[in-house]
Amino acid sequence: MEGARRPLVAYFCMEYGLHEELHTYAGGLGVLAGDHLKAAREIGLPLVGVGLLWRQGYTTQLIGEGGRPYDTYPDFRYDFLEDTGVRLCLRIRDRQVAVKVWLVDRYGNAPLYLLDTDLPENPFPDRAITAQLYGGSAEDRVAQEMVLGIGGVRALRRLGLNPTVYHFNEGHAVFAGIELIREQMERGLSFEDAREAVREQIVFTTHTPVSAGNEVHDHGLLRYMEAYHGLSYEQMRRIGGDPFGMTVAGLRLARLANGVSALHGRVARAMWSDVDQAAPIVHITNGVHPGTWQDPRIRAARGQAGDLWEAHLECKRELLQEVEARTGLWLDPAVLTIGFARRAAPYKRPDLIFRDPGRIVRLLESGRLQLLFSGKAHPRDEAAKEIVARLVDWARRFPGRVVFLQNYDMRLARVLTRGCDVWLNNPQRPLEASGTSGMKAAMNGVLNLSVLDGWWAEACEHGVNGWQFGGGYVGEGQADHDARALYDVLEREVIPTFYGDRDRWVRMMGASIDMSARFTAHRMVEQYRQLMYGL
Ligand SMILES: *Cc1c(COP(=O)(O)O)cnc(C)c1O
Repeated sequence: MEGARRPLVAYFCMEYGLHEELHTYAGGLGVLAGDHLKAAREIGLPLVGVGLLWRQGYTTQLIGEGGRPYDTYPDFRYDFLEDTGVRLCLRIRDRQVAVKVWLVDRYGNAPLYLLDTDLPENPFPDRAITAQLYGGSAEDRVAQEMVLGIGGVRALRRLGLNPTVYHFNEGHAVFAGIELIREQMERGLSFEDAREAVREQIVFTTHTPVSAGNEVHDHGLLRYMEAYHGLSYEQMRRIGGDPFGMTVAGLRLARLANGVSALHGRVARAMWSDVDQAAPIVHITNGVHPGTWQDPRIRAARGQAGDLWEAHLECKRELLQEVEARTGLWLDPAVLTIGFARRAAPYKRPDLIFRDPGRIVRLLESGRLQLLFSGKAHPRDEAAKEIVARLVDWARRFPGRVVFLQNYDMRLARVLTRGCDVWLNNPQRPLEASGTSGMKAAMNGVLNLSVLDGWWAEACEHGVNGWQFGGGYVGEGQADHDARALYDVLEREVIPTFYGDRDRWVRMMGASIDMSARFTAHRMVEQYRQLMYGL
């Protein structure tokens, strides 16, 4: 059977953002995975995705009376999925959990197999394993990761697929490596030989330069969940350390690892330099799928200044209509419109522009600026919910000047990243591994105004294709420094150019679209093919 294996990549990820109707994503990681599958299909790369069918999605997050976000979990109906007929079982805790495998093949994507435990034969706690993405306790998380990793490899076998490369996109998938080792040991290999054999097939992408974002699990919990899966404590410790680090395990299971921008590659190498037997870490900068994220009118008009501005105004009007439909507020299309939408994670500092109230209030009262915000807080991240509440409070104080759109999703992302004039991004450098919403904006001629972090550190030509602020400063008083730099560049460059030099603005839009050709998912997947998959 081994002789004539055809190349095939199995891409494992906890979340996939292919379309807003399929609620299997939380944010950038999932949308990246969705775009990866679409580009793989378009360039003819043999690749299949493996993930979980999240019945209730991440969170449907609404804003309450007091301005605080709250979470609801409707059961979504996915009657458009194809049933592969494959069912399998795996042991979690002390029970056999039944898993059903669905196929998603309707968004121009490479085949995506989604595993589902919401089956009548499973008792309630097991049915709920695939209910809420990033929900539940550490125990729930391990169960989810076991279904993804162990269940995912078994699903591939049952589908008759025999991948030559396993790509773990983030650490959630590393139990797939444990299952691959177990398979080899079952064939008679020693643990060390099995580990060597599977290492040749595994590549790993890390996304998280925040230490706390790198998941670790207690060995007692792993043993209780039966995640050891036949391996010993000593063997598991040699893979993931103690406590068991999912990123450490990814680095030790893989032959090659990567970060997702040049800067993040450097940060990741420094961050994990003390892990022995880790794969070398290179970098492949993320990209986004133009067919999903670039407006066709913008694509057709690029290069012709007058047409480009007209196409932009159409996108902007559609955005303002969407805002009116959702909030009842009609915003003035002649006013410079700045968008900020992404997960409301504290390191992204969504409310940085309000840091000096005096300065931002003067700008808002001048009538030369309006701000659109959107973003979900993680359901258990109180600090993030406070940030959303503060944004909602600003929106209440400045109706029609500051707007918060609830329940951020791919639809809102699409409308916002093509309809705003400027896309604001102010994470605490160097914590934004890449950022991708800015790439979506760039390919629509929506000008990036961003700190030099993630992808922007390698894309920005200040005053030519967008603007940077803060100069890459890291250290004492970083937020104050960045906020001051933001106001300065707004007052001295962005606002005067928008109102005073439309020709220059449209030239910058053209330069932004040209630059975005370096940040497509096609370029990204092509680099994965060559550097990581060796195909
Ligand atoms: C693109 C996208 C993101 C990623 O945004 P970042 O700028 O990388 O934080 C998150 N959520 C949705 C819905 C997206 O479409």
